[in-house]
Amino acid sequence: MTRSAWYRKIVMVVVTIGLFVSQIGGAVALAASTTPFGPERFVTNHATYAITTKSAYYQRIWRSAIRAWNKTGAFTFKLASAKSAQIKLTTATPSESQQLGKDVGLTEFWARHDYLFKINSELNPELLHNYGYSRSDDTHVAEHELGHAMGLAMGLAHNPSKHSVMYYENRSVGIQQVDIDGVKARYQTPAGQAAS
Ligand SMILES: [Zn+2]
Repeated sequence: MTRSAWYRKIVMVVVTIGLFVSQIGGAVALAASTTPFGPERFVTNHATYAITTKSAYYQRIWRSAIRAWNKTGAFTFKLASAKSAQIKLTTATPSESQQLGKDVGLTEFWARHDYLFKINSELNPELLHNYGYSRSDDTHVAEHELGHAMGLAMGLAHNPSKHSVMYYENRSVGIQQVDIDGVKARYQTPAGQAAS
């Protein structure tokens, strides 16, 4: 049946709100499997976050994803107030959920001269529920969106490999070494340069 295929079909996108995005860019080559990154990055490899969803379940999902990335040592997410945090982690309301269509997660970012200064990441509970995602699947989607928040796989350049949390339709795979290497490479590479 096509039903199972439909259940496995998930799409994640990153939307650019490019008000201050500079046009200067460049590209460098990474080792074949390293997760690609776009030109945008935070100034350093740490940023502040706040979890703003009211759902206790999704608060736990976001916290698990934060812990998983912090454990890698490649980047540090630090808890801050909702008012001051650079990164806001939330869930789509039912009406926002309609707008997300087939996207189980979405990350919007704002950058100035390729330096990120604001990120909104949201999960789509309605779709995650309809697709029958498990708790660990949900966590992988949150880890994927945090990957975007750090600058991984911006725009359409997801990791073509399925063994990456940044695979476009990832559901069952957590953070891999290629993803950790991608974050390390992102923060060893100047803003304005992308790598594929
Ligand atoms: Zn994505």
